[in-house]
Amino acid sequence: MVNRFNVHSAHKLSYQFAPGRCILCQSPSLRDLDLCLGCENELPWLSSRCARCALPLPQNHDQTHCGQCLRKPPAFSHCITALRYDFPVDRLIAGFKHQKKLNYGAVLAALWLSRCQSQLDTLPDQLIPVPMHWRRRILRGFNQSLLLAKDFSNTLGIPVNHAINHPRASHSQQGLSAAARRKNLQQAFAFVKGADVKGKHLAVIDDVVTTTATANTLAAILARNGAARVDIWCLARTP
Ligand SMILES: [Zn+2]
Ligand SMILES: [Zn+2]
Repeated sequence: MVNRFNVHSAHKLSYQFAPGRCILCQSPSLRDLDLCLGCENELPWLSSRCARCALPLPQNHDQTHCGQCLRKPPAFSHCITALRYDFPVDRLIAGFKHQKKLNYGAVLAALWLSRCQSQLDTLPDQLIPVPMHWRRRILRGFNQSLLLAKDFSNTLGIPVNHAINHPRASHSQQGLSAAARRKNLQQAFAFVKGADVKGKHLAVIDDVVTTTATANTLAAILARNGAARVDIWCLARTP
C-alpha cells in the first residue's frame, strides 16, 4: 500500500556516501537525518495540549480541552503536531520558509512523521496543502505547505488534492476585529470547482498553526463541500 521507494529512499541512500550534519549544532548527526539525537531530544516537544486544537496547556491544567474549544469547537476534528513553536523550531521554520533551506523542512517533516503517526487513529484519504496567493509564491519561489504535503504524500502513499486555492491576497489581519478577520480570510480562499472531497477524510497541511483562524476557515470550506472529516497537520503549534 505504502510506496516506500521515493525521495526519502534516495535521500537515505545518499547518507551512505555523505554522512548527515546536524542543522543545529553542526556536528556529524551519525544517522540518516540532518539532526543529531541530542538536539532532537532538546527540541520544545509538546506535552500537555488541547485534545482538539493542540494549544499548549499548563502542566497542571485539569481540562482536556482549551477554553476556546470548549466554548466553540473548531470546524476541524484534530490538530496533529508534536512541537511547540519556540526556539529553535521557530528559527528552523523561518529558515525553511524565508531562506529556502529545504533540508530544514525535510528534517521537520521527518520529525512529524516519527512523532505523530502514533497519534493518527486512521490515515486520511487526501492531503490538502494550505494554498498560497500566487504573488507570494512568486516572491518566495515555493509554497512550503505544498512541499510538506508532497513529502508526507510520498512517505504515506496518500494523494495531494489542490481542493482550495487562494485567489485573493488576504489583507493584513492586524488591527481588525475578530469578525473582520474571519471575513477577510473567508474571502481570501475558494473551493476549486470540480475538486472531489465528498465523504472524504482530509488532512490540511500547514507549517505553523497560530490562531487556528486559517485552519478553521479551510476546514469549514471543505466541510461545506462535503468532506466527512478534516484534520490539521502542522509542524508546530504556537503557545
Ligand atoms: Zn545537534
Ligand atoms: Zn483547543
